[in-house]
Amino acid sequence: NQPLSEVDPDIQAVLDAELGRQRDTLEMIASENFVPRAVLQCQGSVLTNKYAEGYPGKRYYGGCENVDVAENLAIERAKSLFGADFANVQPHSGAQANAAVLAALIKPGDKIMGLQLAHGGHLTHGMKINFSGRLYQVAAYGVEEDTKRIDMDHVRELALAERPNVIIAGWSAYPRHLDFEAFRSIADEVGAYLWTDMAHFAGLVAAGLHPSPVPHSDVVSTTIHKTLGGPRSGMILSRDGETFGKKINSAVFPGQQGGPLMHVVAAKAVALKIAASAEFKERMQRVIDGAQILAERLMAEDCQAAGIDLLTGGTDVHLVLVDLVKSSLDGQQAEDLLHAAGITVNRNAVPFDPRPPAVTSGLRIGTPALATRGFGENEFREVADIIASVLVDGANGGAESVDVAKYQARVAKLTQDFPLYPGLAQ
Ligand code: PLP
Repeated sequence: NQPLSEVDPDIQAVLDAELGRQRDTLEMIASENFVPRAVLQCQGSVLTNKYAEGYPGKRYYGGCENVDVAENLAIERAKSLFGADFANVQPHSGAQANAAVLAALIKPGDKIMGLQLAHGGHLTHGMKINFSGRLYQVAAYGVEEDTKRIDMDHVRELALAERPNVIIAGWSAYPRHLDFEAFRSIADEVGAYLWTDMAHFAGLVAAGLHPSPVPHSDVVSTTIHKTLGGPRSGMILSRDGETFGKKINSAVFPGQQGGPLMHVVAAKAVALKIAASAEFKERMQRVIDGAQILAERLMAEDCQAAGIDLLTGGTDVHLVLVDLVKSSLDGQQAEDLLHAAGITVNRNAVPFDPRPPAVTSGLRIGTPALATRGFGENEFREVADIIASVLVDGANGGAESVDVAKYQARVAKLTQDFPLYPGLAQ
């Protein structure tokens, strides 16, 4: 019964330092968020002790009567939130959900067609050394060189030429809505399944602020920890449980995983309950508004003059993609400068990037975590101005010329005005 601080002071120090880092910096990695206390509670609960291989009512272990309640709640909430006929809430992560989706739909050697990694796709959509690129043949569509948008006529042409068994809609770095109806009609035309990976924008879909892929896709996968704001984990949905339910369940367990993480499944149930609330919808609206404010500021004259631009000239979602191809500042320098000022973002290759992948010519900046922290229009205006000013200063005068302390003070004011996890001690 000893507390962590006594059992392992070294790890206690890591927890304390990380809580401090999260409190004292502005988190703008587009795939990150802050879970509510209720989710932290589930994840640190006795449910972690329980083996529950199988599914509710059909377990391979005794004593599952309580965890069955949690998993059934998570399933029912997921179905109701997204208007799905079927849900599997056991995947440990987004990548594992995706491995199960492909295992359920096709066999090794079949062909998949998703968005190129270098144009904003995900590793699990066919990257060469990922399971998806090793087990399946891969054809990849990209964005157009001039607009940086996906052109559905070109997706159709490629699908007709390549005849994939699965078409993948979804992305890790793309700032626009996808045309799910067009994806559906292309999939029907070539006889492919349509799988949408909505990991990034699931929260926006839940709030009704983004088109839903569920009615158009055979299968939809997602993570729970990005815009949805729940525990780090994955989930698979389908509009047609009769056709896909059994295959998906058996692909997750025993196909991919052993015992589900029941403390995480319970936390998912909590996150899905919250995602159905009016407060969540209001928060997602602030996420989108914040991204719009960021986009507007990063396209202002001083940015343009410094060679700083935005991919596609704006955003429909929770993130913007900064294009530094014409700037003297590269992605690595921009990430480092913002980090020094107290803002965490990630550098990101832009499509057709002339700089090497370790350096890149882009930044991916997202608003979900700050919206969760409580930021509204005024705060997003201030953050947007800090980011734009740091980048413009760095591009015009070189990284060393930036007065980092000045920006740190502006960041500190925001973090103090919006305390994170007030009262929490780990
Ligand atoms: N799918 C997409 C589109 C993603 O962006 C990500 C993560 O970044 C994943 C899947 C994988 O999620 P995880 O990191 O939980 O495996």
